[in-house]
Amino acid sequence: MKKKIAFITGINGQDGSYLANYLLRKRYIVYGLSRRTSNYKFQRLKYLRIFNKIKIIYGDITEYEFFSNIVKKIKPDLLFNLAAQSFVDYSFDNKFTTYEVNTKAVYNILETIKNFSKNTKFYQASTSEMFGNSKEKFQDENTEFNPISPYAISKVSAHDLVRIYRNSFGIHATSGILFNHESPLRGPEFVTKKIISSLVRIKFKNDRPVKLGNLSSYRDWGYVEDYVEAIYKIINCSKADDFVIGTGNTTSIMNFFKLACKEIGFDPVFKNGRKYKYCIDKKSKKKIMQINKKFFRDKELHYLKAKISKANNILKWKPKTNLKKLIKIMVAYEIEKIKNPHDENFY
Ligand code: NAP
Repeated sequence: MKKKIAFITGINGQDGSYLANYLLRKRYIVYGLSRRTSNYKFQRLKYLRIFNKIKIIYGDITEYEFFSNIVKKIKPDLLFNLAAQSFVDYSFDNKFTTYEVNTKAVYNILETIKNFSKNTKFYQASTSEMFGNSKEKFQDENTEFNPISPYAISKVSAHDLVRIYRNSFGIHATSGILFNHESPLRGPEFVTKKIISSLVRIKFKNDRPVKLGNLSSYRDWGYVEDYVEAIYKIINCSKADDFVIGTGNTTSIMNFFKLACKEIGFDPVFKNGRKYKYCIDKKSKKKIMQINKKFFRDKELHYLKAKISKANNILKWKPKTNLKKLIKIMVAYEIEKIKNPHDENFY
């Protein structure tokens, strides 16, 4: 049987690499788009030992002509748009780049599919950040969007475009509204990876305390391996639609920090400093965390919790990995990495 073709933008990112791995296991031919100026030169793909199995195309998602020529040539069965300027804090100072990559490029992709590749099924990476500070106890497909960052605004616009193209032009265009999902291969600027990699370095290398901002925000954190399965189910759903994907649980950053401490073997004691809180390990008296003003956002998103009944009912999807297990996986990776400083396979 002829192998199916999948095309992933953002192949170098956390989700792109895990999704590529998932699709290769399902025997897809996988093409991936990467910028020549990429931040992470295929390290994640190399860590997952799949770099040589992927057909890399170099280019920028914002170049319409280039992008449509690629789609015309490879005619993918599935096109996953995971490329994004995905860091919320950065979007405040880089609004236009964020808009160009996260919204305008989606317009280009949808136009390309409409004009040249109508049988291609499309997946857009939408995000729980679109809900902003929703007043609801949980967020689902019917919750109103209330974006509070340039990142979230750009994603809401792209999300609307996908819905419009689906309804107006009959394109199989889907969106996954994914809540935060993490892994050992998460970008170092994200708080989960930052906490765990720093604590492990403090434990084994006597590194400096990790600097954090607001500890009282709540997030619904899941594991990326579960979420790429959901992405695959979304794009292949017989009726193109939007789906919320999360765990249905929410945890504060403070609690995430405490759980990570426990897994690493620290016993955290919080103290009030002259201006800000800090934290020491009870046994060693080592300072392991310091609150720093720099890491507070002007517009803070306080609370996210997914309701996933639609994904449960229609996709028959639910997460398999709880937060403790996720932290265990991330900690084990960081310890392995620190024990093998010369192993280039670690990202
Ligand atoms: P990520 O690690 O930041 O990856 C994003 C990728 O986009 C990077 O590999 C980057 O490529 C690529 N990219 C950025 N600008 C580009 C451009 N102009 N042209 C081509 N490629 C470009 O993000 P992620 O965590 O994998 O997330 C994947 C998608 O899901 C993103 O759209 C994100 O907004 C969305 N999302 C993520 C989460 C989450 O919790 N992870 C939750 C909800 C939604 P380079 O390697 O070239 O830098």
